[in-house]
Amino acid sequence: MKTTGKVTGIVSNLVTVEVNGPVSQNELCYITLGDTKLMAEVIKVNGKNAAVQVFESTRGLKNGNEVEFEDKMLEATLGPGLLSSSYDGLQNDLTTMTGVFLKRGEYTDPLNHEKLWDFTPIAKAGDKVIAADWLGEVKEGWLPHKIMVPFSFKGEYTVKSIIPAGQYNIDKEIAVLVNEAGEDVPVTMTQKWPVKMAIKAYVEKPRPCRIMETGVRVIDTLNPIAEGGTGFIPGPFGCGKTVLQHAIAKQGDAEVIVMAACGERANEVVEIFTEFPELIDPHTGRHLMERTTIICNTSNMPVAAREASVYTAMTICEYYRAMGLKVLLLADSTSRWAQALREMSNRMEELPGADAFPVDLSAIISNFYSRAGMVVLNNGQTGSVTFIGTVSPAGGNLKEPVTESTKKAARCFYALEQNRADKKRYPAVNPIDSYSKYLEYPEIKEYLDQTVMPGWVEMVEKTKNIIRKGKEANDQINILGDDGVPMSYHEIFWKSELVDFVILQQDAFDAIDALCPVERQKYMLQLVLGICDKDFTFEDYEKCRSFFKEIINILRQMNYSEFKSEKFNNYQQQLTNLIDNGN
Ligand code: ADP
Ligand code: MG
Repeated sequence: MKTTGKVTGIVSNLVTVEVNGPVSQNELCYITLGDTKLMAEVIKVNGKNAAVQVFESTRGLKNGNEVEFEDKMLEATLGPGLLSSSYDGLQNDLTTMTGVFLKRGEYTDPLNHEKLWDFTPIAKAGDKVIAADWLGEVKEGWLPHKIMVPFSFKGEYTVKSIIPAGQYNIDKEIAVLVNEAGEDVPVTMTQKWPVKMAIKAYVEKPRPCRIMETGVRVIDTLNPIAEGGTGFIPGPFGCGKTVLQHAIAKQGDAEVIVMAACGERANEVVEIFTEFPELIDPHTGRHLMERTTIICNTSNMPVAAREASVYTAMTICEYYRAMGLKVLLLADSTSRWAQALREMSNRMEELPGADAFPVDLSAIISNFYSRAGMVVLNNGQTGSVTFIGTVSPAGGNLKEPVTESTKKAARCFYALEQNRADKKRYPAVNPIDSYSKYLEYPEIKEYLDQTVMPGWVEMVEKTKNIIRKGKEANDQINILGDDGVPMSYHEIFWKSELVDFVILQQDAFDAIDALCPVERQKYMLQLVLGICDKDFTFEDYEKCRSFFKEIINILRQMNYSEFKSEKFNNYQQQLTNLIDNGN
């Protein structure tokens, strides 16, 4: 029998319920309001009282309204058709709706039940299988979508029968398995999974050992992110968080992309719906959306749904990872999620932590980040979820709790700086404060030595040093004046400007410059370091300045030209002449 209860108190979308039976943390319930039912989630249980957060507006709700508990947690529906879909945090399908608004109490089906998929069996009768093993495959776009033994299945099963290749909808019984008790268990193409629990469909989660190429120089060249790694982009409003994430989505070496958009302003939400479907995948020339799922918070949804959205997004990522795919999760911005946690914790009058965020904010964030990773599946293949989140600290203050907690959880830190954005030095990633802890991993170092070039990590270190020294020299020039410092200071400063303009800065809106493969990044870095290695002797700082301005100009033209094209080579010739004649 289901546990039921009655509403005893309402503070915004936090509702207290007196219950007549057992309820568990994170259990779902429905509150009756007239002829609709509002979905809610248990967030605290205390004796006969449960606090639930309602995923919708509680307008009109009264004490005494009936509540029915579901004995299950908030679940994601998993199956073919997730890609190219747009959902809200509760996986309501936003594409089938008029605009991005659902009526209260209305929940839509996330997957299309009529569509036929080309199914091919992988397993055969008699096979022994466990949860997450592959039974068959359908083509989702051009990706192989594995139909797996549901993750909730415990123990070993024997495949009794499997349907032959053919076209079926997602509800078709594709296989019958026999459990250890000898009972028949049917399997369809879909399954459900509670979003707040990680899908542990793997035998091992080793440390990341490869780089995920993003095509963005400040990331790949200076602070690379590992496949299955974690990174975050903090930055004030308008500094380029979203542009940078979209650039990574476009070029990142991933097969599946999940975008969790938690915008604070309605127009940001609309933007993702208008912009993202337009993006063309440079690897295939097809729409990026074909291999993307967008999870997006509609502006009419209360805070609780924002919290759900990042979990739903992560669950979908883990689902595709279990198929042996490379998945990239981008969340923009995770601050909205943290704010949702804060609002709920304040309403529950919990003892607050720093800046009124819940005391366990750090633990919540690191638990979430730890769901990313590279995994070894039961069949020996690997899959990965790489996660990059943005944080929008109020006033750009990087000491606030969400940034600090995320810093502890993520291995890469790409700090966007107001100052650089103001000067239009995009992407405005601060080259000195940013870091990638993966560069310290011996296996990553070895990987870079082998795939990029021997000694690559030392070259990167050298590049960072040029930037650091340039900043020191510039500080001195600013204090003592152009004439107050030795000539060498000007040269040191201009070498750092060379690195800045040619390597760090990258135009996300230029068809060529936007996409810079690692091979090209290596070429340009070698070229730039070759120039930095030279000792020039300038008569005066004006000569130094105009010389570097000229070579920066040529190198930037190279960035905007097709790699190794005639145009590119001509610029390089010009560069060589200038350097040879100049000195
Ligand atoms: P945020 O998400 O941090 O609020 P956006 O990503 O929306 O900021 O960026 C704001 C603006 O900055 C963009 O509309 C664009 O004009 C400019 N911008 C950001 N990054 C780049 C880039 N890499 N290249 C060119 N312009 C950029
Ligand atoms: Mg943004």
